Amino acid sequence: MARSLLKKRIASREDNFLQLAEKSIFHYSRSPYRKLLEPKRIAFRDLKSWVSRDGLEAALRTLELEGVYFTVDEFKGKVPVKRKGITFRCEEEMFDNPYLSFVYEVRSGATRSAGTRIRIDFDYLHQRSLYDAFLLDLHGCLTAPIANWFPVFPGAPGINSSLRFAHIGNPVRRWFSQVAENQVRVNWEKRWGTKAIFAVSRFYGLSLAEPEYAGLDDAHKVANWAAEALREHPTCVVYTFAASAVRVCIAAAEANLSLKGAKFLVTGEPLTPQKKKEIAAAGAEAIPVYGISEAGVIAAGCDQIHAHSDHCHLYKDTTAIIPHKHIVPNFDLSLDSYLFTSLLHESPKLLLNVGMGDYGDIDTKDCNCRFGELGFDTVLCNIRSYEKLTGEGVTFVDTDFVRILEKELPERFGGKSTDYQLIEEEDSKGFTHLQLLVSPRVGRVNENDVLNKFMMLLKRGESSPESWAQSGSEMWQQSGMVQIKRGSPLSTASGKILPFHLHKENSHPTECTTK
Ligand SMILES: [Zn+2]
Repeated sequence: MARSLLKKRIASREDNFLQLAEKSIFHYSRSPYRKLLEPKRIAFRDLKSWVSRDGLEAALRTLELEGVYFTVDEFKGKVPVKRKGITFRCEEEMFDNPYLSFVYEVRSGATRSAGTRIRIDFDYLHQRSLYDAFLLDLHGCLTAPIANWFPVFPGAPGINSSLRFAHIGNPVRRWFSQVAENQVRVNWEKRWGTKAIFAVSRFYGLSLAEPEYAGLDDAHKVANWAAEALREHPTCVVYTFAASAVRVCIAAAEANLSLKGAKFLVTGEPLTPQKKKEIAAAGAEAIPVYGISEAGVIAAGCDQIHAHSDHCHLYKDTTAIIPHKHIVPNFDLSLDSYLFTSLLHESPKLLLNVGMGDYGDIDTKDCNCRFGELGFDTVLCNIRSYEKLTGEGVTFVDTDFVRILEKELPERFGGKSTDYQLIEEEDSKGFTHLQLLVSPRVGRVNENDVLNKFMMLLKRGESSPESWAQSGSEMWQQSGMVQIKRGSPLSTASGKILPFHLHKENSHPTECTTK
């Protein structure tokens, strides 16, 4: 079913896009896109003729050149949208798909703010589960035992993947959660809603695994499960964050367990070459799964050998991507960010050239795999984010860090806004760390005090019980994600000191040469 449906949808992606655009943009009076289209006098028939003449991606580029796009900050309402002669501010609700019924809400990771609210409905889960079936089949593990290791509700990937795998007839055998249920505060609706999902599943005779706590130090629990599954089956699947997968492989090596045959579907953070190597060292295989909360999983890795560790095929029947030149304020970088467009009516958010803070390479290539056979010929790799700092699968939005580094730490410990800097680094095991650099100019400080204050400021996101920043700061504390280092902040090639300094060998951004 998955194969034939995906094939049909690739063939009709332009028609699907046009139908969706006509109904939910041009004929939907509250669409935020109309504020950009109307001043330019772009009508639906224009878009239709561009698509039929030049193809979908070229038509999207024409729209982009006309100013019809939203950056991630505009989309989230953090900055006003300014185009020639018009200024307005977006609210994230404006992008909700008005034609969906919804069943439950999840939150994307972010601190302070509650994160982006995403409404999920069953039609959407059904459509998504087809890709799961296709992907598992491609990797020879459609019926292999599956476990996931994701935080409890309201984190999205745990509950979403559990329901999707159940829908294709292969429910997860175990759901491990890096965060204990009593470590997150959610309102009673969510608490009972979660219980209801499991009660209903039992009522229908389906064993939906309930989350069980396995902190980051308990990776051996997941490793044991995988090793046991592999004794009875040729393959098994662990769906988790990339860093969590590395933890499982290290735990397996320490216990002398072989994970030969295990497939790690890894998501939430880049699958770097080092992480891929660590996973391969345990005999297992890492398969990158790329998703954004606003559109779900939109790309995944195949079974062929590729030069890039995070080589993914774009699910081009559901999403179109074009690159957009973007200058990132806090990083002093110019890069090609991705602009996303949703093509199917099940999409929870209606995206038309919307940036999500991610960037990377995008290419059209033939591949000798089943994705290639089907026509999934758009390839993504070197995917990174400039808007978020990600570690252990948890993302924090950079604006929170900027305030902490430039204002709150100097106020408490002395020094100026440029005396504190975060440096993202990957250690030899493939774990990402954030070094909090404190300039010698600041004088004598108790390093533990600085670290505790920093974590406390991050955790303030807990004031919102909806925020899964709670899970995030909990996981960062468990993993010793942030380390203090004394030294002068590093400047960029253009001589600026910025609150962040990224060491990213595999990324392509070029430093701006500012005049
Ligand atoms: Zn391929």
